[in-house]
Amino acid sequence: MNKKQHNCINLPEALKDSEESKICIANEEGNWYLAIFSFADKEMVEDGEAEEVGEEVGSYEIKIDFCPFCGKSLKGLVSQAS
Ligand SMILES: [Zn+2]
Repeated sequence: MNKKQHNCINLPEALKDSEESKICIANEEGNWYLAIFSFADKEMVEDGEAEEVGEEVGSYEIKIDFCPFCGKSLKGLVSQAS
């Protein structure tokens, strides 16, 4: 099953795909989630908090109905796509 994603044009450039974090808005089983992943940087490895740079050290998922960046109703997007 393909994961539906909302590729938001308003997504802050700094959050989109940096070395330390990644944000995406994806649909899972009919619900939309804002997912934030954080990755270890050099400093965290040096401090022994992570084993290697780029290792996923945390993730958050927040259920949303509207895109927080452009305000689009995501529920509408699902019905259009399917
Ligand atoms: Zn959006």
